[in-house]
Amino acid sequence: MMASPNADPDLNSGRSIRSILIVGGGTAGWMTAAALAKALPHGCTITLVESEEIGTVGVGEATIPPIRLFNQTLEIAEADFLKATQGTFKLGIEFVDWAKLGHRYFHPFGPHGRNFDLVALHHYWLRARAEGETAALDDHAMAWALAKAGKFAPPSSDPRNVLSTHEYAYHFDAGLYARFLRQYAEARGVIRVEGKVGDVRMDGESGFVAGVTLTDGRTLDAELFIDCSGFRGLLIEGALHAGYEEWTHWLPCDRAMAMPCANVSPLTPYTRSTARSAGWQWRIPLQHRMGNGYVYSSAFISDDDAAATLAANLDGQALGDPRPLRFVTGRRNSFWTKNVVAIGLSSGFMEPLESTSIHLIQAGISKLLALFPDRDFDPLGIEEYNRIAVNEFERIRDFLILHYKLTMRDDAELWRYCAGMDIPDTLHVKIEHFRKYGRLIARDADLFGPPSWLAVHIGQFNTPERTDPVAEYRGVDGREWLGKLRAAMAAEAARAPTHEQFIAQHCKAPG
Ligand SMILES: Cc1cc2nc3c(=O)[nH]c(=O)nc-3n(C[C@H](O)[C@H](O)[C@H](O)COP(=O)(O)OP(=O)(O)OC[C@H]3O[C@@H](n4cnc5c(N)ncnc54)[C@H](O)[C@@H]3O)c2cc1C
Repeated sequence: MMASPNADPDLNSGRSIRSILIVGGGTAGWMTAAALAKALPHGCTITLVESEEIGTVGVGEATIPPIRLFNQTLEIAEADFLKATQGTFKLGIEFVDWAKLGHRYFHPFGPHGRNFDLVALHHYWLRARAEGETAALDDHAMAWALAKAGKFAPPSSDPRNVLSTHEYAYHFDAGLYARFLRQYAEARGVIRVEGKVGDVRMDGESGFVAGVTLTDGRTLDAELFIDCSGFRGLLIEGALHAGYEEWTHWLPCDRAMAMPCANVSPLTPYTRSTARSAGWQWRIPLQHRMGNGYVYSSAFISDDDAAATLAANLDGQALGDPRPLRFVTGRRNSFWTKNVVAIGLSSGFMEPLESTSIHLIQAGISKLLALFPDRDFDPLGIEEYNRIAVNEFERIRDFLILHYKLTMRDDAELWRYCAGMDIPDTLHVKIEHFRKYGRLIARDADLFGPPSWLAVHIGQFNTPERTDPVAEYRGVDGREWLGKLRAAMAAEAARAPTHEQFIAQHCKAPG
């Protein structure tokens, strides 16, 4: 292509960002440092300041499949990463007692089987059910075929093999991940400063952040600031007053108790989420321990009762006392303001029901690199970043609310409140399309695609009144296809190694 005659051959002459300060060294800070160090190897100084005295939030163990892409972009070998973080494999989430007491369903990573007609598979499953077929929708997902057998195998690269239809993510110790990424980032030139930020200095003329002053008097200046300071949002809120939109009326949980316990065998290759009277409990198996926590609404249970409920519902011997955490569900009004970009908990928080926080860190880093500023900080890029981020947060919010809204439980106040609460219009329309015709309406850039929505709709009894009218014309015997699919999945699961065997062969953590 010919260059425009007016083009400046040195296109960014003199306007490139030369210094970045990352405030905070939790998962968000070190993921950002590692990704920026990899993406900007020359001409930019990257500094990270963190305070051991303040520490990190210290939880966050379950992820979703795009995390694999993050590690691949950093050229981190999967086995090295899993060994360093006590990681295990995650094929999805088992939801227990969410729809009603005694009921369970699975949100698999990857679709339910593979469509065998232009009408989607689940319509044939619904029709088969109406004709007396008893197999659950879950039984058509490769991820569940493996998970329920305690097995793990990576997806096959042969698209004809049913073992190519699942995806996977990881469980890992986020603190160890941050440590692992710190080594990675420091090896690529990131400068780490230990110290506590006491003051944020502003440029009086532009209103931009000029630098921070540590409590011992040292100063750190930069052109671009990444606020990874956690819930406190030291720069984005403390200095720039971005504001916060709260969503507690839709997602009432505002606290958590975390309490690891000793592992039990078999090592399940999935997260379990069990609904309790005032929230839900996570169970996340790592190589060296089991992560557990009770996420609850302080309006419906006291901290002491939440801690007692958690302690009474551990599978193994408790490893320490329950650790309380508080949060306000919602998002910053503006994620990027002037020369500050908030990434991680500083940008907002939604409860870990679908393990989305670490993903939102990754999404923030991708957007930042795609819209990377120069020293002019053109509002065009900033507005686009904020527009996409709002959309990402709100679509995840809707998917989380779906789990609460579709409950049929009436045994506790929280669940009665959720079943009756008003919901965002953007969610209402999706529930209605599915309820009436089994249609999965995808709007905007939904992180969770149709297979995820399908799993929760069906798992929580938003059963369609009718199926796709087109199925009437097709003359396809769906029952035969579905039966073959189940048999093929069962055969692949039988051949696969157990989760423990796979880890022992590929990525066992030392010690
Ligand atoms: C109950 C709960 C469960 C969760 N479970 C999951 C999960 O399963 N999956 C998932 O993806 N996510 C989960 N998360 C979210 C996850 O923990 C966070 O997204 C992730 O750890 C990122 O945190 P962060 O780095 O933004 O903040 P933090 O970990 O809080 O780190 C903040 C950093 O800023 C530093 N800092 C703060 N103030 C100063 C100062 N004045 N001077 C210097 N340094 C400062 C701190 O020292 C620290 O290094 C969970 C969160 C909670 C609350």
